[in-house]
Amino acid sequence: MQIIDGKEISNRVKERVKAEAIALKDMGITPTLAVILVGEDKASQTYVASKEKSTIACEMGSVAHKLPESTTQDELLALIELLNADDSIDGILVQLPLPKHIDSNKILEAIDPSKDVDGFHPINVGKLNSGLDGFVPCTPLGIMELLKEYNIEVSGKNAVVIGRSNIVGKPMAALLLNAGATVTIAHSKTKDLAKVCQNAQIIVVAVGKPNFLTADMVNDGAVVIDVGINRLDNGKLVGDCDYDNVAPKCSMITPVPGGVGPMTIAMLLSNTLKSAKNRKLKG
Ligand code: NAD
Repeated sequence: MQIIDGKEISNRVKERVKAEAIALKDMGITPTLAVILVGEDKASQTYVASKEKSTIACEMGSVAHKLPESTTQDELLALIELLNADDSIDGILVQLPLPKHIDSNKILEAIDPSKDVDGFHPINVGKLNSGLDGFVPCTPLGIMELLKEYNIEVSGKNAVVIGRSNIVGKPMAALLLNAGATVTIAHSKTKDLAKVCQNAQIIVVAVGKPNFLTADMVNDGAVVIDVGINRLDNGKLVGDCDYDNVAPKCSMITPVPGGVGPMTIAMLLSNTLKSAKNRKLKG
């Protein structure tokens, strides 16, 4: 059994992004990410701070807009319009979740698809599902990078994605399908999940429940990608997998922490660089 080291691969991605960002700077281009945070959610504040820090560490520009909880939908839309029109901004990210009085779909649809580095705009969702080049959500994109770096063949494999969110499950399934896997998407209404999983050579679990994926569900030699991030009462961070019992059955597995998690920010930086190159290098 081999542990997939997301920390190491994410560092490699960041080094690559940084080298390219420095080369662009020599040409007078600073790839710049604008992050919008609405409200006081502690977890969101931590995510935004870490995105800002990583962006700056990769020699890219970082602009943060921290707005009060009382911000109206129209005020947020007006800010997005300004950022869409600002040529110095390459990527726009709205930290989710937004306060309840704001319609997230309206906000995500307002972002210029060419600056949509989170890949949530319907145009980019459509491109992904059509196999066209666009922006792909960072977590599933990071998982594909891990599979590539560890030479895990996807084509012809049976893959099960557990979870059908727009952020992880659905784009993950599309990427695996585009890469030639036979993909099953399982979710809360799926019957006999164990049987569905036992047929898989690759399992991606993105449910958000500790110990959800148990050893009896996993085929000998399977690759298990654990997307879950769960904080236990004792403060420990765990994934969705019963790791101690599942890992011995796997050929490869991602740990939590240190697996998928670090890849998400790395791919955000990579998408921001891609946007700058698309927008400022291509005629
Ligand atoms: P979500 O709550 O939007 O989706 C959870 C999915 O799990 C749903 O589609 C649901 O159908 C499915 N599900 C729930 N109960 C189930 C059951 N009994 N059987 C089968 N499926 C079931 O969550 P999300 O945003 O996709 O995130 C999932 C997990 O991944 C969370 O723990 C989240 O914190 C984590 N996450 C991690 C990263 C990262 O960077 N590593 C990024 C995004 C999300």
